[in-house]
Amino acid sequence: AKEMGHGQLRLYDHVFGESVHNRLQLSQDLQKALENNELFVVYQPQFDTASLQITGVEALLRWTHPELGPIRPDVFISLAEQQGLIAKVTDFVCEKALQELESRTLLHRLIPRLSINVSALDFEGSACADAFQQRFSTLKDWSFIQLELTETAIMNNFENTRRVLDRLRSANVQVSIDDFGTGYSSLNLLRRLPVNEVKIDRSFIRDIPRSGESSSIVRTVIAMARSLKLRVIAEGVETPAQIRFLQEENCDELQGFYLSKPMRIDALEAFCKSYVPE
Ligand code: C2E
Ligand code: CA
Ligand code: CA
Ligand code: CA
Repeated sequence: AKEMGHGQLRLYDHVFGESVHNRLQLSQDLQKALENNELFVVYQPQFDTASLQITGVEALLRWTHPELGPIRPDVFISLAEQQGLIAKVTDFVCEKALQELESRTLLHRLIPRLSINVSALDFEGSACADAFQQRFSTLKDWSFIQLELTETAIMNNFENTRRVLDRLRSANVQVSIDDFGTGYSSLNLLRRLPVNEVKIDRSFIRDIPRSGESSSIVRTVIAMARSLKLRVIAEGVETPAQIRFLQEENCDELQGFYLSKPMRIDALEAFCKSYVPE
């Protein structure tokens, strides 16, 4: 996570110049954005591979800066992590997503699952379990919620993360390992954690079925998930050839631009209400 932080810092410096003032300015702007509704959530549907029914949505955060325009989420998320704002960001996403989906009664019926991205830092500190408790307190059935964590986030703080995840699991919250295959996870890690789902990283999906190497990695991850009785989802699906491959290999679920881009709540509602699987 530290290394990633540096990489993203460089990217940020590249965009905004070397000035420390700019970095401080942008984090102050982010703090204001949290209060002023400059942040919003978009939702990307996920689909059952065989039936193409909607199985859930992933919440993705967006920030349109008043002067700079859209800021990339990986940039402002790493800024939020560095500036101690990540808990507030996670609060915001949970509250906004639950409120938007519930006010339109999309939960359960049309959208069986809401996936939320969380950071390693969401699992640090003695108050973090209570923070999750608070975020979902308006929700009767927590099995509707899934948290997405990367392997790196888990390895960063394994014992604490596992303890909090165990508590959330016993309250029926689901857990997905995001960007699977890019970190250091092993079968052992998956066995020791309360996980429901693995999400195969886009970098492997991009090259199937053309690349033999990526194809075998994808097959292997699907077989491994199957043997551990975990759901497996492919992210970054952009072509019919990829879908055919994933159907043949019995990948459980699909997510990607070919099926649907991330949408604001109005567009999501319209999409769900008019969607008919092919
Ligand atoms: P991620 O969790 O791996 O999210 C998937 C990213 O892939 C999203 O980018 C999504 O828009 C993009 N994507 C989806 N389908 C396709 C496709 O078919 N092709 C391609 N090329 N891309 C696709 P986005 O929204 O820019 O998010 C980037 C990263 O920022 C996320 O990666 C996640 O790590 C982080 N992020 C976004 N929202 C949040 C949030 O609310 N909280 C936290 N902690 N992190 C977030
Ligand atoms: Ca994710
Ligand atoms: Ca991912
Ligand atoms: Ca990713």
